[in-house]
Amino acid sequence: MRIACFDARRYDREFLLRAAQQRPDDEWIFFENRLSSDTAEQARGFDVVCVFVHDRVDKPTLERLAQLGVRLVALRCAGFNNVDLVTAQHLGIRVVRVPAYSPYAVAEHAAGMVLSLNRRFHRAYHRVRDGNFALDGLLGFDLHGKTVGVVGTGRIGEVFCRIMTGLGGIILAHDLHENPNVTAMGGTYVGIEQLFQSADIISLHCPLLPSTRHLINDQTLASMKQGVMIINTSRGALVDTLAVIRGLKSGKIGYLGLDVYEEEDSLFFEDRSEEVLQDDVFARLLTFPNVLVTAHQAFFTQQALEQIAATTLASLDAFAQSQPLRYEILPS
Ligand code: NAD
Repeated sequence: MRIACFDARRYDREFLLRAAQQRPDDEWIFFENRLSSDTAEQARGFDVVCVFVHDRVDKPTLERLAQLGVRLVALRCAGFNNVDLVTAQHLGIRVVRVPAYSPYAVAEHAAGMVLSLNRRFHRAYHRVRDGNFALDGLLGFDLHGKTVGVVGTGRIGEVFCRIMTGLGGIILAHDLHENPNVTAMGGTYVGIEQLFQSADIISLHCPLLPSTRHLINDQTLASMKQGVMIINTSRGALVDTLAVIRGLKSGKIGYLGLDVYEEEDSLFFEDRSEEVLQDDVFARLLTFPNVLVTAHQAFFTQQALEQIAATTLASLDAFAQSQPLRYEILPS
C-alpha cells in the first residue's frame, strides 16, 4: 500500500518507519504540511492518508480524497473532532484512530502542570538562574488534603485520579459513566455543579463535543472557588479563553495550566520564534504570571509514540488483509 503521511515531523517519521519494517512492501511518503481541501491533491496515487489532530478532514477534503482513490484515513491520535465521519462513511472511506496510546503521558503532564503552577517551578527556574534567591511570590500550598475535581474519568482521567490520590488529594469525579476503578481508589462521583463549587483544582479529561464546548465559561467560573486552579490537557475549546482571561484578571482563577488552546491550529507544532505573534488573546494569556502554557505536548513520550506507530501499523495490516478494523470510528 502507499501511505501519505501529513503534518509529519521528524519524530513521526522515525517511529512510524521503525514500526513499518513489519510491512516492507508499503511505501510511506511524509508531507510536513497539513491535509486540507487545498492539499488533498498530494494524496494522488495513495491508498491511505495518515493524519494528526490539526489536519482538516472535512467534507471537501474527503470528497477530493475519494476522487483520488484514497480508501482509509488513519488518525495518529485519539480525538477525531477534525474528521467528518458522516461524509467519510457516505463516500466509503474508512476511518481508524489510536484510541489509547499512553494515558500515563497525558495524565503525568497534567499532574506536572498542577505541581509546577502550585510551586511555581516555571518562575523559580528563571529566578535562580538570574541570581535571585528570594522566596517572595513563590509560596505554594500542600496538595495533600486538597479537593481535586476530575471531569471525564476515562483512560487518562483515571490515571490522573490515581496520581492525585497518591499525592493525598481528595477526588471528586464527574462523568456520564462512573468508572469503578475511580470509586475503588476513593473517588466520589458528583454532579458537574457540585464539582465546580467544591474543587480547589479542576482538571479536564473529557472529549470535545457540542455538549462540552466552553464547559469552562463565565457562568461556570462564577460558581467556582476563589483562586481555583484549572488544568486543560484535553481539547482547547472546552475552555472559553476570553472568560478565563476575565477570571484571571479578577482573581477567580488562581492558576491556569493549558496544553491545548481553542485557536492552536495556527500556532502549535511550529517554531514561530522569529514571527510576530498575531493572536492577541493568546498573547494576553502569556502575560499572566500564574498561567503555564505548553504547546500540545502532553502526549509526547517515547512510549506514546511507539504505541501510536504500533496501533497505526496494526490497522493498516488489518485493512490490507480486509480484516475487521478494531479501531474504526463510525458516525454515532
Ligand atoms: P476516554 O474516551 O478514555 O475518556 C473520556 C471520558 O470522558 C469518558 O469516560 C467519557 O464518558 C467522558 N465524558 C464524555 N462526555 C462527558 C461529559 N459531558 N462530561 C464528563 N465526562 C464526559 O478518553 P481519554 O483517552 O481519557 O482522553 C480524554 C481526552 O484527552 C480526549 O478526548 C482528547 O481530547 C484528550 N487528549 C489530549 C492529548 C494531549 O496531548 N493533550 C492526548 C490524548 C488525548
